[in-house]
Amino acid sequence: MTVLEDARRLLATGPLCDACLGRPFAERSFGLTNPDRGRALRTSLALEADEPYESTEPAECWVCEGLCGRYDEFADRAVDAVEGIDYVTYQVGTRVPPLVEENGDLLREEAGFAADAGEPLRKEFNREVGRRFGARTDTEVDFERPDVQLLVDLDADEVSVTINSVAVYGRYRKVERDVPQTEWPCSNCGGSGRLHGVGPCPECDGTGYRYWTSVEQEIAPTLVTALRGDEGVFHGAGREDVDALMLGEGRPFVLEVKHPHRRTVDLAALAEEITEASDVVEVEGLRFATNDMIERVKSHDASKTYRMTVEFAEPVSDDELAAALEELRGTTIEQRTPNRVDHRRADLVRERAVYDISGSTTDDTHATLVVDGAGGLYVKELVSGDEGRTEPSLAGLLGVESVVTALDVLAVEGEDEPFEQPAFFREADGE
Ligand SMILES: [Zn+2]
Ligand SMILES: [Zn+2]
Repeated sequence: MTVLEDARRLLATGPLCDACLGRPFAERSFGLTNPDRGRALRTSLALEADEPYESTEPAECWVCEGLCGRYDEFADRAVDAVEGIDYVTYQVGTRVPPLVEENGDLLREEAGFAADAGEPLRKEFNREVGRRFGARTDTEVDFERPDVQLLVDLDADEVSVTINSVAVYGRYRKVERDVPQTEWPCSNCGGSGRLHGVGPCPECDGTGYRYWTSVEQEIAPTLVTALRGDEGVFHGAGREDVDALMLGEGRPFVLEVKHPHRRTVDLAALAEEITEASDVVEVEGLRFATNDMIERVKSHDASKTYRMTVEFAEPVSDDELAAALEELRGTTIEQRTPNRVDHRRADLVRERAVYDISGSTTDDTHATLVVDGAGGLYVKELVSGDEGRTEPSLAGLLGVESVVTALDVLAVEGEDEPFEQPAFFREADGE
């Protein structure tokens, strides 16, 4: 029988533990562990030769040098490593010492096996330690996006844990003007708040920030602290201008909390806490999301509804305004990248639809308008014409210089579609 001949050639290389004897056969039978395979081969050899059965302890094994006898120990150490961390899913990785890896290559070579016969020790370790860890902690393995990733470093004799970030989805309203969405460091001092040889930066009064707060700064710290993470990264579904309010149902965002030690928190209570403590933002609908939600929110190009106050350089009648709005309603606008936008951005011509636009004059040089436009429509330029870079425009149609003096976002389209909740949340929810 060739399998037994193969086993005999393996054993001729030196003392082998059951796992190391069975591993080169890993792909030849299913439903067995490598130690099972090794024991079965040894039993068959003993029966065939009519000799007493003798096993070899891993400690005497020349291939693994004892490592295969330490699955339980490493599983215990992995359990210790995640103490005090909330998680429901895990994954185990193993770093095998190069010399031990080499032993495995030598074993196959000397016994006339293919270099990749069976499986590498690393895979066996991942599986054996992982299985034990899962059983001891009553948690589930997840090969895609586990809550915690354990690394068994056999070379350094260490077990370490990496906590994957958690994504919190929500919607915010911004009820104060002159607040950016994300932190805006002062460009004069590079965000340090100090100038060398001068002292506190005069541009930002030593704060390091161009604006006193941001939507991110109002929301992130409460969530990062509650989830006991060490950092929060804010991803908005687009952004309103610094001087625009964000009203209505609010704008979707995801806060990615890095290295969270907690995953079971009352998000509804935290949303209330943030809203109550802030004069700038109101937060609603906080939910845990899977990580792909970050990309979905970032690529969000939803249509938006704006309310704006417009000022005209010369008197405009209600009829003239109505006629101009009639022209713009349902039109496709061609916009070159606005002058006010960062000049490092490519100067492109974009086509964006104005779905609806309406409004009336409040006196002969002012009007209030509501615009429903496609994602990416620059509405300030739709009014001003941006020196001919936006065509058509309200100013162009009226023949009167027009500027937006106040701008609010009333709605960001795209209701909270149902999306997948991460495993730890489903668990906590009893589903
Ligand atoms: Zn061994
Ligand atoms: Zn500064």
